Amino acid sequence: KDFRNKVKPNWCPGCGDFSVQAAIQRAAANVGLEPENLAVISGIGCSGRISGYINAYGLHGIHGRALPIAQGVKLANRDLTVIASGGDGDGFAIGMGHTVHAIRRNINITYIVMDNQIYGLTKGQTSPRSGEGFKTKSTPEGSIESTLSPLEVAIAAGATFVAQSFSSDLKQLTSLIEQGIQHEGFSLINVFSPCVTFNKVNTYDWFKENIINLDTLEGYDSTNRLAAMTKLMETGSMITGLIYQNKEKKSYENLVYGFSQEPLAHQSLALSQAEFDNLVAEFR
Ligand code: SF4
Repeated sequence: KDFRNKVKPNWCPGCGDFSVQAAIQRAAANVGLEPENLAVISGIGCSGRISGYINAYGLHGIHGRALPIAQGVKLANRDLTVIASGGDGDGFAIGMGHTVHAIRRNINITYIVMDNQIYGLTKGQTSPRSGEGFKTKSTPEGSIESTLSPLEVAIAAGATFVAQSFSSDLKQLTSLIEQGIQHEGFSLINVFSPCVTFNKVNTYDWFKENIINLDTLEGYDSTNRLAAMTKLMETGSMITGLIYQNKEKKSYENLVYGFSQEPLAHQSLALSQAEFDNLVAEFR
């Protein structure tokens, strides 16, 4: 299955988002999807362009609203595999309310955040993921706000799948996206995806020096929610791998429909012209 299309990404050379694009394409193929079974819904930001770079259904939405659109797509046609994607500003600033509620709703979609700890598209301002003291045009004296820890928030909100990876580790990232797609519920995958143009602090080398791969920690148990939260707090969220998974909780659409009805997108309208006209008239 080829999830590549002919659109040439206009990301800067070296941007971490290239690897995320490749990982989504590989993971989709590895789990046996066809392009017509996949929808990629994105928000606004450099990373938001990704929906146009994958051979699948795609929608480049509005700022911070990838998740409401993606949830609508899934509820209308749960036969589709739905991936939502965007940047840390998109998902953890303007879109944070949607992120928290999608997490606790546990709709069966995969949310991939390209976390470069800055706003890249608007040429380098401090984001909720920027470190304290981080200097940009919007914080010339250094950021005085605390850095948001979205994965701690996710676990506190009842997340059933929380993972983190690094765009340089294509093998791990692809595997985590495959696991996220196969998870029956909401999966959040945060990806350290360096912005080589505007973030000169959180570089590839900086991540390589600071990341701890959970695979190297003997005895780590990704089914233990308290252990996951503790490890995030202990490490300043600098861990990669599958951090937490709960396979017991049912997905939202499973509870709503009980899988007894056809997805809305497959149901016949079965309306006469008169009934259709009456329905439309209600919205005039
Ligand atoms: Fe990537 Fe940064 Fe360039 Fe945007 S500005 S494409 S995030 S390197």
